[in-house]
Amino acid sequence: MDAPFILLGPLLSPSGMDAADWLPDGALVVDEAGRIVHVGHAASIATTMSPYPVIRTNDLILPGFIDTHVHAPQLDCRGRHGADLLQWLDSYIYPAEQRFSDEILAADVSRRFFASLVSAGTTTALVFATSHEHATHIAFAEAEKCGMRIIMGSMLMDRNAPAELCVDRCSAEAAMGRLIERWHLATPLLRFAVSPRFAPACTLEMLRMAADTARRHDLHIQTHCNEALSEISLMQQLFPHSGSYTQLYHSAGLLGTKTILGHNIHTDQAQLRLLTESGAAVAHCPDSNLFLGSGRFPLDEHLQAGLRIGLGSDVGAGTTVHMLSIMRSMAHAQGKSLHPLLPLYCATLGGATALGLEHETGSLTAGKSADIIIMHIDNLLCHGSGDVGVVDVASALVYTTPEERVRRVWVAGKELTIR
Ligand SMILES: [Zn+2]
Repeated sequence: MDAPFILLGPLLSPSGMDAADWLPDGALVVDEAGRIVHVGHAASIATTMSPYPVIRTNDLILPGFIDTHVHAPQLDCRGRHGADLLQWLDSYIYPAEQRFSDEILAADVSRRFFASLVSAGTTTALVFATSHEHATHIAFAEAEKCGMRIIMGSMLMDRNAPAELCVDRCSAEAAMGRLIERWHLATPLLRFAVSPRFAPACTLEMLRMAADTARRHDLHIQTHCNEALSEISLMQQLFPHSGSYTQLYHSAGLLGTKTILGHNIHTDQAQLRLLTESGAAVAHCPDSNLFLGSGRFPLDEHLQAGLRIGLGSDVGAGTTVHMLSIMRSMAHAQGKSLHPLLPLYCATLGGATALGLEHETGSLTAGKSADIIIMHIDNLLCHGSGDVGVVDVASALVYTTPEERVRRVWVAGKELTIR
């Protein structure tokens, strides 16, 4: 059912890294425009007085999940063993991305990719496409059909990758212009992100062109940084006078408040300070880091630096699109017990904040877009009794709920199809 409607049931909505609103008898009103206009206790609204249809549930009402780092063309590459990042890229990823020159394949994978995100309860994602302009148009068309909130860009590479995936700077700039015109400027839920893959696959001129394009059109920038030791050493060989990985991106003009860096594992205090000063955000991808053995994300150091942190599935180095699994991996990667509200925050409001969308999505708050999911949780314990606390509910959700429990999904008040 599309908006307008009133949703009645237990409701959990993160409000900070260690805080959430928990309403065992929640009520949420969504208007015709797909905006949340009221959140409160069921008793706070007179449903009999409202002309809106009422949806009642005993399952848990949540904000949709946010994936801040994921690769659409890598959906079918999950679980492919590689010795490390660079070898894995050469063996599996570049061949898979080359196949996106085939339009039928590009459409098929893109369709299944967005369908799987919706079924996992993800309502917003920051996505890498391939370097093909046409395949990126196809991916945007599939994103529009599925109804998600998507920020996506064609991959920029002009060296150290198969020739079929490298695009020269002028052609890449022109292609981005057409993608911005067709999607970023013309569709309400779709945005274009400037997406240099990582320093080893780009010349300095390409990185600078990327930064200029983003500045000119006020776009997001997404890339990878400090993921694997072999990658960092290759970066140092290619840019011997650039200092750290973060300094290289900074001097190329790539760091700003709309920049999201994937991984950032092998960093240090000077680089973290530079990120904080520039206002860039980090997409933490724990499942991917565990799978490729890239290293342990220095979570405490990032938190102390005051950086915005979102969670990313990083499919296909990540093995799943399910953000519930990624939340669990975040805790496992730290080797200690994490308070459940922290990973939940990073996968919702924290992700929205990392993307600069915290006024639009990420929590169930009046004034925001109705990006909502309903999940079934065993023994949701409460059944309206109000006996169960917010930490109990968050723990049950983050640490024990099977992935495939998403029952309904809305973006901007429009109900999406779960396949
Ligand atoms: Zn990635």
